[in-house]
Amino acid sequence: MATIIPLTDARSQNRAETLAAFVREAARTPVPEGPVADTRGRPLGDLRISVTDRCNFRCVYCMPKDVFGRDYPFLPHSELLTFEEITRVARVFVGLGVRKLRLTGGEPLLRRKLERLIEMLRGLDDDLDITLTTNGALLARKARDLRAAGLSRVTVSLDSLDDATFRAMNDVDFPVAQVLEGIDAAAAAGLAPLKINMVVKRGMNEQSIVPMARRFRGSGHVVRFIEYMDVGATNGWRMDDVVPAREIVERISAEMPLVQADPHYRGEVAERWVYAQGGGEVGVIASVTQAFCRDCTRARLSTEGKLYTCLFANEGYDLRELLRGGSDDEALRRAVAAIWRQRADRYSEIRTANTARAPKVEMSYIGG
Ligand code: SAM
Repeated sequence: MATIIPLTDARSQNRAETLAAFVREAARTPVPEGPVADTRGRPLGDLRISVTDRCNFRCVYCMPKDVFGRDYPFLPHSELLTFEEITRVARVFVGLGVRKLRLTGGEPLLRRKLERLIEMLRGLDDDLDITLTTNGALLARKARDLRAAGLSRVTVSLDSLDDATFRAMNDVDFPVAQVLEGIDAAAAAGLAPLKINMVVKRGMNEQSIVPMARRFRGSGHVVRFIEYMDVGATNGWRMDDVVPAREIVERISAEMPLVQADPHYRGEVAERWVYAQGGGEVGVIASVTQAFCRDCTRARLSTEGKLYTCLFANEGYDLRELLRGGSDDEALRRAVAAIWRQRADRYSEIRTANTARAPKVEMSYIGG
C-alpha cells in the first residue's frame, strides 16, 4: 500500500502493527453510548476528512515540486475510502459527539462528484456544520452546486494578493484573480461567513499581511493569518521562518488598530481581533508560538481511512481494515471511542527543534 511515510524501518512497522492490533481489540470491547473525551478531558468535537491526497497547486511550503513531482506515488483510487465508507465513518463520529465536519485534502474539489458526498453527509443530520477547505481554484465553477448539496461554509486558502508572490507560492503559476472570483462566487452562493486563510512565511509573503487585511476589511469575510508550522517532513521548516502571531497583529494594528475579542466558543483555533474603528475582524492562528492543544477537539481521517488524533502524528489507526473486513457500525464505534479515549497528544505544547525534525504525516495527505 502506498503511503506518504513509507513504513520501511522496523520500528514504524512494529508501531503500525501495534496500532492495528489495538483497533481490532477495541472493536470487540464494549464502550458506553454517547460522547467521548480523551485522557485530558477533551471531547471529540470535529472530524476533518481528507478526500484526496492530490492537489493542483504545488505550494512551496506544503507540496514542494521536487518531492511531489510526476513520479510521486499518490494513492490509487482503490485505496481511497468510497463516499459510502466516509459517510459510515462520519455517522459513527456524529454518534460520539462530533458536530462539525470539514472536507479537506489535497485539494478536495479535485475529488469527482464531491457534491454527492456532501449530500450524503448532510443526510446524517440537518444541523451539522459541514465545511470545506479549498485553494479556491475550482470554486467559481462549483460554489452553487456545493451549496445546493448542503455545504454550510467554505474556507479559502490565499497566501497573497500580489499576483507575482501568489504565483511563486503556489508554484503552478496560478493567478490570484481566479481565486478572488472563487471567493465572490462562494459568497454569492451563500457559503458564508467565508474564512480566508493565509499562511505567513518569513521572507516569502509577510509583506502581504497588511494588504490582505485591508482588502477584506468590511467584506464580511474573516481573514485568518496562520503561523507557518512544522507539519510533515518535506518543507524544511525552521523556527526562523515563523512570523509570530503577535507580530502579525502589530503590523495590522499599526495601520488599522485592533482590539482582542473573546472566542466564540471554547477551543476556537483562531484568536479573534476586531477592528477598533469597525469593519469586522481578523483571526490569528498561533499554532507555533501559543499552542492550543489544551482545547483541541479535532480528529482527522486520511484519504485511505486512517484516523489521526493529532496533525503532527506520524501514524494513524487503520479504520479501513474494519470497514472492508465486514465489521459492523458498533465495532467501528467501539474502535473510534477507544482510540479517542486513550488520546494524549499535545505536540505543539512540547515542540522543540528535535520534535520538529521527527517524521510526521504531510499536510497534503492529512489536510489542514
Ligand atoms: N488544498 C486545500 C487548501 O489549499 O486549502 C486544503 C488542503 S491544504 C493542506 C490546507 C491548508 O493547510 C492550507 O491553507 C495551507 O496553506 C495550509 N498549510 C499547508 N502547510 C502548512 C504549514 N506548513 N503551516 C501552516 N499551514 C499550512
